[in-house]
Amino acid sequence: MTELINILIVDDKPTNLVALESFLCTGDYRVLSATSAIEALRLLEANECAVILTDVMMPEMDGFEFAKALKADMRLREIPIIFLTAMTSEVIDIYRAYEIGAVDYLQKPLEPEVVKAKVAVFVQLFRQRRLIKHQAVQILESERREQRFKFTELQRKEAMTRKINEELERRVDERTRELTAAKELADAASVAKSTFLANMSHEIRTPLGVVLGFSELMANPDLTSEERATYLGTIKRNGELLSKIISDILDLSKVESGQFAIDLQEVSLANILSDLTALCTLQAQEKGIELSFLSEGKLPAKIRTDALRLKQILLNIIGNAIKFTGEGCVEVKVRQSSEGRSPSKLVFEIADTGLGISPEQAAKLFEPFVQADESMTRKYGGTGLGLVISKRLAQFLGGDVTLTESVPGFGSTFTVVVDPGIASMTEDTSPDDCSDVAQSILAVAPAEVRLDGLTVLLVDDSSDNTLLVTHMLRTAGVAVDLAENGQEALDKVHQHPYDIVLMDLQMPIMNGYEATVALRKEGYHLPIIALTAHALKEVEESCYAAGFSDHITKPIVRPVLLRALRQHAPPAPEPWSRAI
Ligand code: ADP
Repeated sequence: MTELINILIVDDKPTNLVALESFLCTGDYRVLSATSAIEALRLLEANECAVILTDVMMPEMDGFEFAKALKADMRLREIPIIFLTAMTSEVIDIYRAYEIGAVDYLQKPLEPEVVKAKVAVFVQLFRQRRLIKHQAVQILESERREQRFKFTELQRKEAMTRKINEELERRVDERTRELTAAKELADAASVAKSTFLANMSHEIRTPLGVVLGFSELMANPDLTSEERATYLGTIKRNGELLSKIISDILDLSKVESGQFAIDLQEVSLANILSDLTALCTLQAQEKGIELSFLSEGKLPAKIRTDALRLKQILLNIIGNAIKFTGEGCVEVKVRQSSEGRSPSKLVFEIADTGLGISPEQAAKLFEPFVQADESMTRKYGGTGLGLVISKRLAQFLGGDVTLTESVPGFGSTFTVVVDPGIASMTEDTSPDDCSDVAQSILAVAPAEVRLDGLTVLLVDDSSDNTLLVTHMLRTAGVAVDLAENGQEALDKVHQHPYDIVLMDLQMPIMNGYEATVALRKEGYHLPIIALTAHALKEVEESCYAAGFSDHITKPIVRPVLLRALRQHAPPAPEPWSRAI
């Protein structure tokens, strides 16, 4: 339904109003009538009108004044005004009407069709204007809505960006902190490594210098036999120290890098104690120190541990106790710990009556290359690595090494703890039991091995090494033949059935691995023992993988070499199976 449009008619004569209303009431318009300009203005307050038809001559406020009032009002100034004038009106009035803002004028008596047509035009204009205004408002509204949406979107995006930035910033902060920490760690590791290398080269250089210096002195033909023996002894002692330093460094690097393979086996505790007694008693006797092994309470007959490593730890701690004790005794006590409900540990307490260690020295005792008293090192040798290695090894075996107490000048007590693993118990062992075992071990202790008649092919490209090993073998009665590389070894083995082949690994032309693989491939089944420069687990494993029967680590120690040969030699009744 079309909306009714208001038309305002103003005339002081009601009859005129009625007449006008009668031909304007078409159904499309609602005609509002006022008998004065004042009333008209009041009606306009509440009603929007499309057009105003007003008489000119009216009392109080005539048509011109009414038009002026309308033009002065912002809300009303756009409404078209049609003046209704008498036929007698002066021309000047008409001009005045246009001047004030009338859009048209009609002369009375009014022609209904003319009035209707003119009003229809203004109503049409009004409708169009209202439509345009409505559309404009709608466009404006939708633009505003769009703007508001865009603004909200922008705010949302801004908030998101802010949040992402905060995250990012936090991550950058964290990453920076991580990187800084990693760098600090790497720097500290690098400093520690440099210090370690500096210490290591110093430790190596000292005995090396002695070896070189005394070797030069040995060249003097005028030396007395005593001087010669002293120099040789010095060279030997320093050579042994060098060898110990290198194997300790290797051990330390393995434990520090975590590449340490622990070989847990069920072993007899009595056997371990016997071996220790056998190995330490001589050292103690040489110094005139009493060494005793005591046990407290029940001890497990078998423990599950790496016997070799446990002995290495205890040898080092007991060895130190003997080394740093001038007179008195070293006592080794073994017991099971009984701390609450936790699984019991095996505890070794090594007490001596020696030099003792000051609190300052104790604080740095378990750091690499730390030696409390350098003059002692000069006197007894030592690498300053034993304690740190022992501690790490004991930790690998489920325990620790600690300095329990020490009084400078009166002695020290070190405690070695290990996890005994599954353990089967023995009856109480009296202190004497251990000593008995020690005595029995001492009775069968190191005897010279003779291997008379054994034939060995020694394959090595180093003439120094060849000379040394040949000497070690010949003095034990072994018949030695030589080859300089793997190829020569193959040729010789094909010509002669040696009892054992001793094979170096790194050689020109054909190395030890290649030669062994080739020999095993052609069905050679006699023992081939590798001479390796590295005591590394990987080297050991690759030796066995290539077909070697065993391996010996350089520097070659004569008793170790002879024991290995005896182990791999053909069975009795050959003379080399007998120990004299
Ligand atoms: P080293 O090979 O020099 O003995 P260690 O790491 O075994 O290396 O020992 C480090 C140092 O600790 C020794 O040089 C010595 O000064 C001190 N030390 C170790 N054990 C004892 C002990 N029982 N009595 C006195 N000092 C000891």
